[in-house]
Amino acid sequence: MRTTRIAVFALTLWLPSFARADTPQVIADIAPVHSLVAQIMDGVGTPELLLPATASPHDYALRPSDARRLQNADAVFWVGDALTPWLKATLETLAADAERVSLLEAEGTLTLEFREGAVFAEEPSDGTDAHDHDRHSHLGTDPHAWLDPLNARVWLSAIAAELSRIDPDNAAIYQSNMVESQKQMDLLLDQLNQDLEPARAARFVVLHDGYRYFEDRFGVRALGAISQSDAAAPSAARVKDIRQAMEDAEVSCLFTEIQLNSPLLTSIASETDVKVVALDPLGGQLVPGGELYDKLMENMVKSFLSCL
Ligand SMILES: [Zn+2]
Repeated sequence: MRTTRIAVFALTLWLPSFARADTPQVIADIAPVHSLVAQIMDGVGTPELLLPATASPHDYALRPSDARRLQNADAVFWVGDALTPWLKATLETLAADAERVSLLEAEGTLTLEFREGAVFAEEPSDGTDAHDHDRHSHLGTDPHAWLDPLNARVWLSAIAAELSRIDPDNAAIYQSNMVESQKQMDLLLDQLNQDLEPARAARFVVLHDGYRYFEDRFGVRALGAISQSDAAAPSAARVKDIRQAMEDAEVSCLFTEIQLNSPLLTSIASETDVKVVALDPLGGQLVPGGELYDKLMENMVKSFLSCL
């Protein structure tokens, strides 16, 4: 009798920690998305990061432990098919019971088309060349949409809405975190715009065409890219084009990336008189978490300024 009462008492003591197990298990694909989810979940729980930020998402193989994490997930936030086409079927199988949110498809997201040639058009297309437009639409969506803070702002709303739906008990926290994060995002955007002022006229080339969102938002423009937006190995003709264009335009800066190793870039850099600076568009040099997104964007801008 006495033992039973003690047992019941002990059980009641345990209840609060059992309740915590109700916190949704949330997974984000890449570190910038993980950061936005962490901001929204602040005070409720911590999301997990699927892909290490030091790896290129264009080409990654999941580990068995990743499969287990996906099986236990309540929600998965991912950029989408355009960034990680290999992940779609895996999510459908392993995370079949989870809410799967492709942020590229979130309402209000600005998406841009893949660019094709090694050397980009001087001005954005005016859309009068129907044939050209057709060809572009076959290439699909450029997936690097997180590099536009206005998209990140939209995604904060989408993440808060989804989490509030699956975890209504904490909806008030998700909403207030969203309001706070969006305020912060507005300040960040203003600051970065000011900081990039001296870089507006610069001519530079990037290792892979992953910066169009950044370029469009902040008014800087790459002359071209060695690889196209899916980071596939470039053809010899493409490499020839970009080398020629770099010479003609007297490009002074070549942006490489910490996630992509390129012997090709090293050879181009050694033959031309350009400065090479590594960009970190995924935050691979940062600690994953709520603060990563702002730091990633600030570091992008610092890298730009140091090269130009
Ligand atoms: Zn990329």
